[in-house]
Order: sequence, then C-alpha cells, then structure tokens
Amino acid sequence: MVSWEDFKDKVTETGNTAVVKIRTAAQTVTVKGKIHDVEKELNENLRVLGRAVLCRDYNNISVEELQQKLAIAKDDEKDLLRAVLKVKDNESIIEEYYSEIKKLEGITACKVCGAEVTPDSDYCIKCGTRVEREEYTEKVIEDIKVVENNISENIDNEKDELSNGNEEDVFDMIAD
Ligand SMILES: [Zn+2]
Repeated sequence: MVSWEDFKDKVTETGNTAVVKIRTAAQTVTVKGKIHDVEKELNENLRVLGRAVLCRDYNNISVEELQQKLAIAKDDEKDLLRAVLKVKDNESIIEEYYSEIKKLEGITACKVCGAEVTPDSDYCIKCGTRVEREEYTEKVIEDIKVVENNISENIDNEKDELSNGNEEDVFDMIAD
C-alpha cells in the first residue's frame, strides 16, 4: 500500500521536475538571446572587416581583372575572389536601381558639369547650361501630368458625391 508520506513525496517530486523544466526553458531562452546579440555583433564586425579588405586590396581592380585572377586562383583564394565579384555586382545593381528612381522622378544630369537637374528647371543650377531633355524624360513628365490630372478629377468627383454630406468628411478625405 502507498503511504501518505510516499504520496506526498511523489507529488513534490513531480512539482520539482516541472519547476526545473520551466527554469531550464527560461534559462535557454536567455542564453539564446545572448548568442543572438553576440552573433549580431560578430556579423557587424565581419562586415567592417570585409569592407576594409575590399577597400585595401580590391578597390582599383576591375571586374575583368578579378575574373582573370579567379581563373588562375588557388582554391582558398577562389572563395574570396567570388565574394568580391558578388559585392561589386550587388553594388552596380543598387546603383542601377538608384538611377532608375532618378529617371522615374525626371531627374537628369547636366551635359556640361554632370550636376543633377530637377524636372522643373530649364537651366543647370551649378553652371547655368540650358537643359536639353531626352524624349523619354518628357514622356515620363507627360505621364505624371496625366496621372495627376486623373487624381484631381477623382478628388473632384468624390467632392461632388460628398457635397450633400458633412463638409468635415470632405476635408478629412482630401487630407488622407
Ligand atoms: Zn551644369
């Protein structure tokens, strides 16, 4: 027969096991958090280190030269050269996207000094040269005007629809 003492011990034991499990889980979460923090720091340090090596050893080397080096490199150097090539590729893609944004915004470069010219100015702010716009830029500006007209037409229509309603609603809608 199980005595009262045995039963009490059993319950305490089970309780202790549960407490230990919860404590272990909490400690694991804490340690994982610490690992995550140090990993973040490690990655940041590797990024700085990589950037420093890139500037020191590969800044003035063209993609073609890098590819030639890669072709004759030993295995341990190949990974490094591949990473350098990938970084250069990423950077040029990012640059392309930035110039795409400028094209979309109608920003062009002055043909004489290279300064940026906004779509609303006819002369370069830096050197005063008259801006000759390429056709696509004018096309983009034309497209933007069409979209702007559509938007204001829509707002006018909405205003007409709401004209019988509360005036504050109309102002709220325009503010949005
Ligand atoms: Zn200029």
